[in-house]
Parts: sequence; structure tokens; C-alpha cells
Amino acid sequence: VLRIADLEKSFGEAKVLDEVNLDVHAGEVVAIIGPSGSGKTTLIRTMNHLESVDDGRVELDGELVGYRIDGSGKVTEQPDAAVAAQRRRVGMVFQRFNLFPHMSVLDNLTLAPVSLGLMNEGEAKREAERLLDKVGMAAHRDKFPYQLSGGQQQRVAIARALAMQPEVLLFDEPTSALDPELVGEVLEVMTNLARDGMTMVVVTHEMKFARKVADWIVFMDGGRIIDQGPPESLLDASSNERIRSFMRRVT
Ligand code: ATP
Repeated sequence: VLRIADLEKSFGEAKVLDEVNLDVHAGEVVAIIGPSGSGKTTLIRTMNHLESVDDGRVELDGELVGYRIDGSGKVTEQPDAAVAAQRRRVGMVFQRFNLFPHMSVLDNLTLAPVSLGLMNEGEAKREAERLLDKVGMAAHRDKFPYQLSGGQQQRVAIARALAMQPEVLLFDEPTSALDPELVGEVLEVMTNLARDGMTMVVVTHEMKFARKVADWIVFMDGGRIIDQGPPESLLDASSNERIRSFMRRVT
């Protein structure tokens, strides 16, 4: 579904993505792990063009994400409307939920599908109720974000992302802003989504989740993918000393 090829990105002098190559297949859960500052968040944000790139490309089913190439081979950024259309196909769940604070839970879910003309009010409401039920938040549909715990807000944020019917869902450290006792309920929702066959890319520090749910693990260090593979070989049996020492520190 998503192909990342030869990606390069710097902030000023600092190279934060260096020759990154990664394929995300349909129905697969890919976990991106690695030390702080290794480029995980920057990488996942390039996948729906929340972050621009300096070189290389991101492709969604063979279509370039965020850029277009004109007849003379010149690469330019796509117009906003084209980027927005791609972001509907590649949704994002953020570390800090980012719900609309002045809107009810239900309105948070129906706003975009209705205003973009993807559904009428009635359809959007029915779909929102179905999704809220899926994330265990149906009873809270009329509340406002400030009335909810962080874990509840994040579950609503996941339902809101699903309301756009994305083909891929990106999660940028979805549990790292939560109190420890609220992490489990969000991971459970993500685990169920994975079981339903959702294609997911997850930046996470939750090694147990990565081991249990991910099909493929990507380890980043210093802006590079230094190894990738299935959980058992990457987490437990990597020959790479940096990965082994990271695993000793975090588990
Ligand atoms: P963490 O696990 O701590 O969130 P990370 O692996 O997600 O880290 P990134 O957030 O992608 O790492 O950051 C990679 C590097 O790029 C860091 O050195 C960071 O300071 C730098 N960086 C990130 N965003 C910007 C920006 N907008 N401007 C300048 N430097 C940035």
C-alpha cells in the first residue's frame, strides 16, 4: 500500500532521515521503534505529507504522496486539495489526541465526513455511532473532550480517524501522553483494529504491544532504519548490538 523509497530529510544541518526504505503492505501492522530523536515521528509524518521531504519518495498504491512530477521531470508540491485527498486515505492519530475542544464527541466524528460531502448528516451520525461503539465510547457521545480522560479522548480520536474510512492509519506515539493506567484501553482498541485487518503504522515505545500485534518491526537510529523484520527475530534475536542494548534498556 505504502512504499517509502530512498527518503532523505534534514532540519538545517541535521540529517533526520537518511536513506529510508520501507514497504507497508495491506492489512499489515508495522511498528517503528528506536531511541528518542532517531527520526520516528518525522518518518511517520512524511507518510501523509505532514512533513515534506528533501529527496526520495512516498507512494500510496503507486501514486506519489505530496508531490507531482511535471512533463519536464520537475518535482513540485501538490496543491492543497490533492494533499487533503491523500490525507483522507492515510489518516493520523496524534500523541495529544487533537480533538476539537468546543465540539461534542459525536460532532468531532461527523464534522469532516459531512463538510467534505462524503456523507449526509444521518449517514455520518449512524457511522459515528457505530465507530464509537467499536472503541467503547458510545455512552459518551454527547460529552465534550474536557469531560473525558486522556484514554477516552484518544479512543474518540481513533474513531474520528476511522470515520474518514482511511486505507492506512498512522499512529504517532498514541499512548505516550497518557497516565499509565489509561494506556491499556487504547492499546486494546488498536489491537482490535489490527485484528479487523486495518493497515497500521505505529510509532511506539510499548514493546509488549509491538511484540504481540505488529507483523513487522522497524528499528531506527540516527535517522536510519538499521534493521527491520518480524518481531521475534528483530526484538529477541537481532545480531545488531545497538538493538540488543536498546532492548536491554527498555524491557
Ligand atoms: P522521540 O521518540 O523522542 O519522539 P523521534 O525518534 O520521534 O523521537 P523525531 O521527533 O523524528 O525523533 O526527531 C528527529 C530529530 O529531528 C531530532 O533531533 C529532533 O530534535 C529533530 N527535529 C524534529 N522536528 C524538527 C523541526 N521541526 N525542526 C528542527 N528539528 C526537528
